[in-house]
Amino acid sequence: MNKLNETLLRNWHAIGEQVHEIAVQAGRDPTTIRIVGVTKYGNAAVTRALAECGCLDLGESRPQSLWEKAPLLNDLPVRWHLIGHLQRNKVARTLPLVWMLHSLDSLRLAESLSMHAMSQRGTARVLLEVNLGNESAKGGFAMDQVEEALGQVSALPGITICGLMGMASLQSSHECNLDQARREFARLRTCRDQLRDRGLPEGCSLDELSMGMSGDFPAAIIEGSTILRIGSRLFEGVEV
Ligand SMILES: *Cc1c(COP(=O)(O)O)cnc(C)c1O
Repeated sequence: MNKLNETLLRNWHAIGEQVHEIAVQAGRDPTTIRIVGVTKYGNAAVTRALAECGCLDLGESRPQSLWEKAPLLNDLPVRWHLIGHLQRNKVARTLPLVWMLHSLDSLRLAESLSMHAMSQRGTARVLLEVNLGNESAKGGFAMDQVEEALGQVSALPGITICGLMGMASLQSSHECNLDQARREFARLRTCRDQLRDRGLPEGCSLDELSMGMSGDFPAAIIEGSTILRIGSRLFEGVEV
């Protein structure tokens, strides 16, 4: 095994173990937590090496990177996640490649996804992105818009809303302020729980909570994350 593969495998196992440990401490079943390896820092070769370690959920933030890498890895059973903004003129090409879109951030994008899913005879699996810190620089629905968006999007054909996605505000992740991150993740979970209590539209369970990155995933696990989006931690010691 070469150095790259060794390092990636070590990182992949270390994160898996840490996630397992924190989940158990938090009284959660570790198998309910999926780790998405965010490969935006690496080229196609590095991305392939990570998948060969067993990290088969891969995330990209730019549609173009996903277009480039997906065909090069199509001999592996990779599930691609788009975690960044998707422009409507890129929907047609992106939709057939992604297993889940984490960043549904407007009704107009949902309408476009619906239209293309119908014409491609497929289903778009999406998460509604919620702007946790109400930061203007970030996309996503404001917390108080989520219920309305849920109703509107779930009425469109060809879209399945699987859950919610959120990022802790910049300040909390950069300063590794886990308490603040945890409060923000708790808000996302509470938002989901309240929507459930009020009754969800048909066919949408909101089982998935995509929250937690390299700097704040322990807090996210404690607050009920089911999908962690881990980038830099996986690539520690790797020259990309
Ligand atoms: C880059 C990125 C991540 C991963 O960030 P790390 O801190 O490197 O783990 C997660 N989510 C989104 C939306 C990203 O753009």
